[in-house]
Amino acid sequence: MNIHEYQAKELLRAHGAPVADGRAVLRAEDAKTAAAELDGPVWVVKAQIHAGGRGKGKFKERDAGTEGGVRLTRSVEAAAIEARRMLGRTLVTHQTGPSGKQVNRIYIEQGADIARELYLAVLLDRNSSRVSFVCSTEGGMDIEEVARTNPEKIHSFTVDPATGIQAFHGRRAAAALELTGTQIRQCVRIISILYNLFLELDAELIEINPLIVTSSGKLRCLDCKMAFDSNALYRNSAILTLRDESEENPKELAASKFDLNYIALDGEIGCMVNGAGLAMATMDIIKLYGSEPANFLDVGGGATKEKVVEAFKIITSDDKVKGILVNIFGGIMRCDIIASGIVEAVRDVGLGVPLVVRLEGTNVDQGKAIIDQSGLNVIAANDLGDAARRIVAAVGA
Ligand code: GDP
Ligand code: MG
Repeated sequence: MNIHEYQAKELLRAHGAPVADGRAVLRAEDAKTAAAELDGPVWVVKAQIHAGGRGKGKFKERDAGTEGGVRLTRSVEAAAIEARRMLGRTLVTHQTGPSGKQVNRIYIEQGADIARELYLAVLLDRNSSRVSFVCSTEGGMDIEEVARTNPEKIHSFTVDPATGIQAFHGRRAAAALELTGTQIRQCVRIISILYNLFLELDAELIEINPLIVTSSGKLRCLDCKMAFDSNALYRNSAILTLRDESEENPKELAASKFDLNYIALDGEIGCMVNGAGLAMATMDIIKLYGSEPANFLDVGGGATKEKVVEAFKIITSDDKVKGILVNIFGGIMRCDIIASGIVEAVRDVGLGVPLVVRLEGTNVDQGKAIIDQSGLNVIAANDLGDAARRIVAAVGA
């Protein structure tokens, strides 16, 4: 799960990392009051979306004088004008894709005088199974380009969980970042704060880009991206409150509300399956018969009728879906429950595309009978191969 920059900075601040004072704004009319609470002489107005590259981004709605989602202003009034311009507009960056993201929140921050822009990140290195730091002297808006053209400028090291974070890790980062004097001590402190925050909150990534050296020689986190392990959110309820659902894929969001494992894909056959392994096999066999799955959907072992109805709604709301394949093995799950769910869902949301159902396992005969007696236009299949063949043929016809 991702959070906004201003939320990440609040966490950094609470843990003692250096960040500037700032105010989040949701309504344009609040921007001026928020800006007036900050000391100038520079106010930075920043679009809050779950994507990087805002500084170099462009708004879809053209408006002379507005470029990019990070604007430096020199008065409270100018900051309020920028905030008003950004709110409600769609910002396109190299991370949003061409459709962009609507800006619903703004962060106004006390501006910094920058001497150097550095890069610092902490993440999980899956190769070594350790927490890993990445640092570079070439921070700012072109870090992806640096990684491509000058990979030697990117340094990384891991932390041994047996020792935990030590001052030498911080000094190593400081050396890689070419820091001197009191900046080294500041860096040691920041590295330790980031490591502890990372572990405490089950983060997947904390990226500070840029970490700046101000003109007076102080380190400051100027931008921050944080991502958290969704499987650990149950023990970090404070993080869960930072979730901004408007930033998420609406179908995946609806699925998560009903505890369905759903991933949107690009194909044409919507799948409703129980069990991740069977879902993978179903996707494979659809491909084998020459088509592509539109989604991965595991309704789980103990699905209820409501869950099945919801899963069906999510699949049918996707206009890429040209046919649906339901493939259920009733182990814990009973086939008659699935069958009733399908019948109810079809009555509820209608069915504009062919539907093939393959049921096997507990109460399979009752399940088939429910579908037969429903009078719905459902194609029954005998086994997995038969089901895939039938849905691919029905879609191709
Ligand atoms: P991103 O483009 O989404 O990564 O947004 P950032 O928060 O990293 O800002 C992009 C760039 O704007 C930074 O690399 C800085 O060059 C510039 N910037 C952001 N805040 C300030 C500030 O307080 N003062 C100055 N002078 N530049 C800033
Ligand atoms: Mg940045």
